[in-house]
Amino acid sequence: MSDMAVLQDYNIEQLNNLLGELGEKPYRAKQIFQGLALGLKISEITNIGKDLRERLLENFVDCPVEIIETKVSAIDGTEKFLFKLSDGNIIEGVAMKYKYGITQCVSTQVGCRMGCAFCASGIGGLVRNLTAGEILSEIYAVNRYLGGTREKRAVTNIVLMGSGEPLDNYDNVVKFIKLLADKDGLNVSPRNVSLSTCGIVPNIIRLSEENIDVNLTVSLHNPFDDGRKTIMPIANKYKVSEILSACDVYFEKTGRRFIFEYSLCKGVNDSKTHADELIRILRGRPCHVNLIRLNAVKEKALEGTSEKDAYKFSAMLEKGGLSVTVRRQMGADIDGACGQLRRNYISGIKDD
Ligand code: SAH
Repeated sequence: MSDMAVLQDYNIEQLNNLLGELGEKPYRAKQIFQGLALGLKISEITNIGKDLRERLLENFVDCPVEIIETKVSAIDGTEKFLFKLSDGNIIEGVAMKYKYGITQCVSTQVGCRMGCAFCASGIGGLVRNLTAGEILSEIYAVNRYLGGTREKRAVTNIVLMGSGEPLDNYDNVVKFIKLLADKDGLNVSPRNVSLSTCGIVPNIIRLSEENIDVNLTVSLHNPFDDGRKTIMPIANKYKVSEILSACDVYFEKTGRRFIFEYSLCKGVNDSKTHADELIRILRGRPCHVNLIRLNAVKEKALEGTSEKDAYKFSAMLEKGGLSVTVRRQMGADIDGACGQLRRNYISGIKDD
C-alpha cells in the first residue's frame, strides 16, 4: 500500500542532507526532528512552512504509526494500544503506570519468527521488521496521546518486550535506541531502555560493543537445554551456557547487571529441580531473575503456575542466593498476553 519513506528514520544529520538536496535551510532539520518527536504528523509541523511540508509529503508518510484503538484497565490504569502502520499492518503496545513514571512496551517487528510455544506474537510467523522510525513513532504517538512533550515526557521508560525479537532486527533496533536518546528528540537515556531477547548470542556480543548502555534482559524460561528446546526453538541454536557467557561479556563491557525473565508454566519449568539448576548456574552472576506467571494464550496448551506456587519457586531461588521478584500482573482485565490484542483484532476483521 505504501512505498513512501519514514521521515522518523532520519537523524538530524540525515535531515540536514535531505534539506540540502531540497535547497532548504539546514536549521529546518532541528525543527522537523523536534516536531516529529512531539508526535506531530508532517502536515502538523506548521513552523516549517506549507511549501516544505508539501514537498516532504511527496516522499514521506504523514504519520507512520497511528493509534487506532486503546483499552484502559480499570484495575491499575494500564493502557493497551493498537497501532496501524502505513502499509496497513497492525502492531500493539502497552503503557504501564508505576510510581516513578510510565513504562511503554513497544513492538520491534510485525509478528515474530522465533516460534516460542507460549507466545501469541509468533503464531502467524514474521510479517516484517519495523524500521527504526516506526519503533520510535510508537513512543512519539503514545507520549503525545498521554499529554507528554519533549521537556516533560509522559513516557519515562521503554521496554522492548512487545511483538518481535529485537535482536532479529538488530540494525533498526540499535538505530532506534540512538534516535530515542537524541537531545533534540525525546532524550531518553538507554539506561531507561530494556531490551529483551530470547537469546541470540552473537547479537548480544555485538550489542555489548555498541557503547550504548541499554539494559539487557534475556528470556530464559528453563535452565536445562533439553527443556528449553521444548518451548523455545532458538534453544536448538544456542546453549544456556553460551547465553550466560554472552551475558558475562555484556556485563564486562557495560558494567550493567542483566536480568533473566522466567515465565512459569505449570508442570513445565516450575519444579524444585528447575529452581536448583537456576541457582547453580546463576549464583554469583551480576543478575536478577524476574518471574512472570505465564499468561495463558488460547491457541496454546500451556498453563500458568498458580500464584502460590510462583511464590514458592521465588522463595527457593531467594534461599539459594539469587535476587528475584515475581512480576505483578498488570492490565489483567483488558487482554491476555503479548500479541493477543493484535491477534484478536486481526481475527475480528477476518470474522466480519
Ligand atoms: N522476543 C523477545 C521480546 C518479546 S517477549 C524475548 O523473547 O524476550 C517479552 C517477554 O514476554 C519474553 O520474556 C517472553 O518470553 C514473554 N512472554 C511471551 N508470551 C508470554 C506469555 N503468554 N506469558 C508470559 N510471558 C510471555
